[in-house]
Amino acid sequence: MGGDDLDERVLATIENVVDHGGDAWWLYLSQCRACGQHWMIAQEERIFDEYFLRRLTVDEANRISANGEWPVELLSYERVLKTGHALHIRPCIFLERLSPSLMWAVEELRKERSDISVEEIAFLLGVTEKQAKRLLAAASPGYGSRWQRMRHRLGV
Ligand SMILES: [Zn+2]
Repeated sequence: MGGDDLDERVLATIENVVDHGGDAWWLYLSQCRACGQHWMIAQEERIFDEYFLRRLTVDEANRISANGEWPVELLSYERVLKTGHALHIRPCIFLERLSPSLMWAVEELRKERSDISVEEIAFLLGVTEKQAKRLLAAASPGYGSRWQRMRHRLGV
């Protein structure tokens, strides 16, 4: 979605029922006020700045609300980004080389899968491998950098 307020119009009748919370901070179970349809929604605001919606069956929605069992498609940040690429959405272009959005994304991906490669990060973030290397270096623990100072300032 995106552009021309389409997302606002579509989302106008949809309200959150359950937030995944925890690790998958981007993930929600929502329901349409008008027709009762359940949706799983991933709100990705770093790389694509898009909402990803997947229609759910009543059973799937019930498993989420009753047991906290979520379908896997959007359950990891890597899967969310892969979904964006599969849909041929263009990643945002960042003027700042060590943009906080890119740094967060790298940290998230590496937290989920510590052996993720430079090539994979470059693809998922829509940056060159050279830039992915730079981001990985900057996101490394103990890096006494602008990024660490920025995190400190942001209180995270
Ligand atoms: Zn509806």
